[in-house]
Amino acid sequence: MLVVQKYGGTSVGDLERIQNVANRVSESVDEGHQVVVVVSAMSGETNKLVGYAEHYSDEPLRAEMDMLLSSGERVTSALLSIALNEMGYEARSMSGRRAGIVTDEFHTKARIESIDPEPMRQVLAAGKVIVVAGFQGVNDDGEVTTLGRGGSDLSAVAIAGALEADLCEIYTDVEGIYTTDPRIEPKAKKLDEISYDEMLELASLGAKVLQNRSVELAKKLNVNLVTRSSFSDAEGTLITKEENIMEAALVSGIALDRNQARVSLGGVIDRPGIASDIFGRLAENQVNIDMIIQTSSNDGTTNMDFTVPIGELNDAKRIVDAFIAAEEITSVSFDENICKVSIVGVGMKSHTGVAATAFSTMANENINITMISTSEIKVSMVIDEKYAELAVRSLHGAYKLDQ
Ligand code: ASP
Ligand code: MG
Repeated sequence: MLVVQKYGGTSVGDLERIQNVANRVSESVDEGHQVVVVVSAMSGETNKLVGYAEHYSDEPLRAEMDMLLSSGERVTSALLSIALNEMGYEARSMSGRRAGIVTDEFHTKARIESIDPEPMRQVLAAGKVIVVAGFQGVNDDGEVTTLGRGGSDLSAVAIAGALEADLCEIYTDVEGIYTTDPRIEPKAKKLDEISYDEMLELASLGAKVLQNRSVELAKKLNVNLVTRSSFSDAEGTLITKEENIMEAALVSGIALDRNQARVSLGGVIDRPGIASDIFGRLAENQVNIDMIIQTSSNDGTTNMDFTVPIGELNDAKRIVDAFIAAEEITSVSFDENICKVSIVGVGMKSHTGVAATAFSTMANENINITMISTSEIKVSMVIDEKYAELAVRSLHGAYKLDQ
């Protein structure tokens, strides 16, 4: 097999941990695999470098930030390669440039445009392990670029895609994806496998184990992803195409998002185009709307409720105020003490009664649902934040996720 293994900052956090990674890599080689390793900077290193730059400037040139920050990953890649060679495993480290990673020109948040797999293929063909410095590439002018914070996952997925690797393993300090947050429900179970779409729903809903950008890229490039821990031998969770999933669960997981607020608009003038005007203004100002409810019209006015991330509430207020000043909306109220609980599962597509179970579970706990939205593989409910954990635990039990 050809495997790409990505080790995050904590996994390479000190010299001993880098040795631990070298041992793991050597085991994969002994098992007969070709291995491309992608590494992050040692934990805390990137922040330290940012701090150095801030000593001189509040707004350092982005190109210089890329020069500076890309060095953290290069340090780790060279050290890991040195450790492997010392153990008798031939290895070569590569910067993003050597690995053929070309990005667009946007310094500090560049996107990968292409990867020339030839240089890596040659080194692999010579029987060597490759250790790529993650998080970086070069633009058309040959300047080093970085991919945005946390970007080495993207490097790994893109490299796995370009090399048509059999597997891309993302090593962190958690053992995989769980049916829900184990801090809320200790009976949460690690999932063996989950589809890209379920993972995207769970991630955007708060189960932040993997960046959504990386999962989206894996889906696009058809890369089989595994998240697992570098500190244990546990198997991890495979994230793959829905067709590859052996047994589609009715519900795979329960996600909780506490970071939402509700905006309630009263006396909204009910004319064609009003929704487009309000939500168009919000979108132009980068306010992310999630759920929207409009009640039926009464006396030419209507009520509209929607949710926004708490951090974007002030922007939303400003925009709504303009509509109030224009007398198109009469009143507005805000509620930050809400949360969104969601059940996610591809099995919902082919079964009925999944949403009904969620509603009756809330009813049994006497929890009031104030907003509902559904998609093919998700049911989301807005409830009072003080019932967040109770709701998650009850739903987890109701769908027998602990069994
Ligand atoms: N070292 C970079 C960061 O801390 C990239 C990464 O770790 O993925 O953001
Ligand atoms: Mg990271």
